[in-house]
Amino acid sequence: MQDLLDEIAATLGPRPDRGSVADYIPELAKIDPQQFGMAIALADGSVHVAGDADTPFSIQSVSKVFALALALGKVGDQLWRRVGREPSGQSFNSILLLEREEGIPRNPFINAGALVTTDTYLALSSPREALGHLLRFVRAAADDEGIHINHDVARSELETAHRNFALAHYLAAFDNLHNSPDKVLGTYCHQCAIDMTCRQLALAGRFLIEGAGFPRLLSRDRRRRINALMMTCGHYDGSGDFAFRVGLPGKSGVGGGILVIAPGRASIAVWSPGLNRYGNSLLGTEAMEVFARRTGWSVFG
Ligand code: GLU
Repeated sequence: MQDLLDEIAATLGPRPDRGSVADYIPELAKIDPQQFGMAIALADGSVHVAGDADTPFSIQSVSKVFALALALGKVGDQLWRRVGREPSGQSFNSILLLEREEGIPRNPFINAGALVTTDTYLALSSPREALGHLLRFVRAAADDEGIHINHDVARSELETAHRNFALAHYLAAFDNLHNSPDKVLGTYCHQCAIDMTCRQLALAGRFLIEGAGFPRLLSRDRRRRINALMMTCGHYDGSGDFAFRVGLPGKSGVGGGILVIAPGRASIAVWSPGLNRYGNSLLGTEAMEVFARRTGWSVFG
């Protein structure tokens, strides 16, 4: 495993075609695209890392996986009255379907759906309390108290979050937000601004795997369903492409991170800030494609 990770980092790390960093969040536009890291956490407790695996990055939409687990913990299946479970085929921040489908977002991983999820785990608490709860969940999953929110990134996104504000107001217009758009957006941007390293993210992802050696923070049904949503919706309108090329459930973020689950086996995190046209890490996706081919791991047998 260590040799494979070293080889992937050595081949992909220096590649000149790396995509472009997300520049609609000014703090993310400053990130050096010449970085690549990868980490894998296995059932025996071992962790293997390569490249910049100990450099913190903004997990952005990967946070939606933890937020979904938290929201389901709060309201259970009632969540599905307010958000769907179908791939959207649209970009992550699209407002198109929200109009047509009367304020019910297609799934919890596109931004509109994630705003509903954030609204759900906020419930009646303050953003500080709700984010504290989320951080406790992530830290427990990773078994690492050193995971924090990057307030500069949160502020930077909030100042330019016009599309997300539009989505939140749209949801509110359809009565699908319980908290004010300002409160939901403030919480959402801080949730997305959690910084983690590949090592921390790989460890945190273990709660999505069943088996001895993996922490049990979710029921089996819930874990399976989150994995199913990661497979079908985890890469926005690039989800089909990711399933085709990698064959494992994953969730990407515009910070360039991807969390991938190999059911029963391992949690894998890869990070490279340059994005492809879907807003998913270009080299991260390629690394996972190579990794899946070389290990033979796939949910499709
Ligand atoms: N905070 C980002 C946004 O809402 C997350 C998007 C992503 O990582 O895909 O635009």
